[in-house]
Amino acid sequence: EEKKSLNFIEHIIEEDLRNGFSTDDLRFRFPPEPNGYLHIGHASSICLNFGLGLTYNAPVNLRFDDTNPEKEEQEYVDAIKRDVSWLGFEWNHECYASDYFPHLYEWAVELIKQGKAYVDSQSSEEIAAQKGTPTTPGKESPYRNRLIEDNLDLFERMKNGEFEAGDQVLRAKIDMTSSNMLMRDPIMYRIMHKYHHRTANNWCIYPMYDWTHGESDYLEQVSHSFCTLEFAMHRELYDWFLDQVYDSEKIRPKQREFARRNLSHTVVSKRKLLQLVKEGHVTAWDDPRMPTISGLRRRGYTPNSIRNFADTIGIAKRENLIDVSLLEFCVREDLNKIAPRVMGVLDPVKVVITNYPEDGEEWLDAENNPEDEVMTYRKVPFSRELYIEKEDFREEANRKFFRLKLGGEVRLKNAYIIKAESCVKDENGNVTEIHCTYDEDSRSGSGTEASMRKVKGTLHWVSVAHAQEAEIRIYDRLFADAAPDSHKDKNFLEFINPDSLQVVTGYVEPSLASAKVGERFQFQRIGYFCVDKDTTNDQLVFNKTVGLRDTWAK
Ligand code: ATP
Ligand code: MG
Ligand code: MG
Repeated sequence: EEKKSLNFIEHIIEEDLRNGFSTDDLRFRFPPEPNGYLHIGHASSICLNFGLGLTYNAPVNLRFDDTNPEKEEQEYVDAIKRDVSWLGFEWNHECYASDYFPHLYEWAVELIKQGKAYVDSQSSEEIAAQKGTPTTPGKESPYRNRLIEDNLDLFERMKNGEFEAGDQVLRAKIDMTSSNMLMRDPIMYRIMHKYHHRTANNWCIYPMYDWTHGESDYLEQVSHSFCTLEFAMHRELYDWFLDQVYDSEKIRPKQREFARRNLSHTVVSKRKLLQLVKEGHVTAWDDPRMPTISGLRRRGYTPNSIRNFADTIGIAKRENLIDVSLLEFCVREDLNKIAPRVMGVLDPVKVVITNYPEDGEEWLDAENNPEDEVMTYRKVPFSRELYIEKEDFREEANRKFFRLKLGGEVRLKNAYIIKAESCVKDENGNVTEIHCTYDEDSRSGSGTEASMRKVKGTLHWVSVAHAQEAEIRIYDRLFADAAPDSHKDKNFLEFINPDSLQVVTGYVEPSLASAKVGERFQFQRIGYFCVDKDTTNDQLVFNKTVGLRDTWAK
């Protein structure tokens, strides 16, 4: 059996296992902050952590890193759970850093008692001014050597709400000369009189990320805590905080870092995505142009395609920009296998088959998906008047134009061979009707000689009388620039593509009248489409997921 080569994260785990770490003690977590919706970058982290859980048959917790009530909301918690489940993963425990607030508080009191933490009564500006620079030492706070009992008293009064935000902070007493700025007496708690979506107004002091994250990993007995590269410098602090509480009988979590994933022609930062929503550049977090999991879902992406994408790009030690065409390739590949084929015309022009009976109607067999192992068929109605795509007809064209031209023949998919005889134009010279004749012996699948006759082009079509009108939303890149947030002198919003959404009225075959929200189809010769949630009983709405081919030739 061929074994997939291991990524560097798997190597770390394999080495730990070789050194005596038990597989039974492996435990992972995915730790989102509920301050926004998950995006395609998070999918990498989700697939990494939950993928490791599957590989090693180890539990994976979903941990909400909810220590900043200013930005966090229940709506985001719900959306995150929905998205992780939709991607196909199951968490072991649903955890919240806020559940550890009492424990963290007790540990902080313990640190004060050991002389390892103190209440600083300076302003944040004063504290910042004393930080120093990476090459010059910081200055110690005048409150650094406060008596332990004064620290205990002040910290309790902070908790009891006796101070305003910013009046006091609790700091770890580490080393104001450390070459790692994060070790220069980092803040452990700040005062915030804010309502928290889970702990309500129970707390007015909130623990900082660094103080919370490692201790949460430890409380959950997470063995390997994977985060993105920007936390590499935090690892020393992560370890220092763990040293203060670590009991050698227990699992000691290990933080390791991997590179963030960036996708071209978009931004993957919750803060920026929130700005796009708030300022109305998109309609919502799940706007189909958004790189959020919910946006991709609404666009028609499958969980499989997103997981394949994450697997394909893998895990890296350095940041780079992944071209969005790779993500599109992944969804195209998956939809090709699973999406039923249907016919829909997005830019219609009418064809009249002059030698077809006036009130004639036939229901022809159409293959649902040539990729299926067992072929199934549906019926599509054929009649005297049809729609085809405008661009599939030209009055005159050279020999390379394998579509319909005057005097030329094409096959109508699942139906007959037709020949264009003449066309009708409006006062502006636009073609409004194409008059054709059909070869009545040429029906696909009829077994006649004429049905096997080879003609160069095959067109999709719908019967005018039977067509369902549908609103079709066609998307382009949300940003015209490949890396809109990489420009030092320009705001990412300057690169928004003003034409990222085009809405057209199309006509689709009647089998789609009963299509359900979220169902995905291949509109033959055009691309993949899925039914949008804006669909009502009176109005079908489709989102274009992706074209059949990569037309983004750049
Ligand atoms: P954002 O800047 O979008 O807010 P974040 O890192 O602050 O991102 P978290 O909710 O803290 O968002 O992320 C949860 C987990 O997902 C973290 O472990 C984080 O490192 C990881 N993650 C976030 N963005 C990416 C990305 N672009 N690529 C890979 N992993 C990511
Ligand atoms: Mg963040
Ligand atoms: Mg974060």
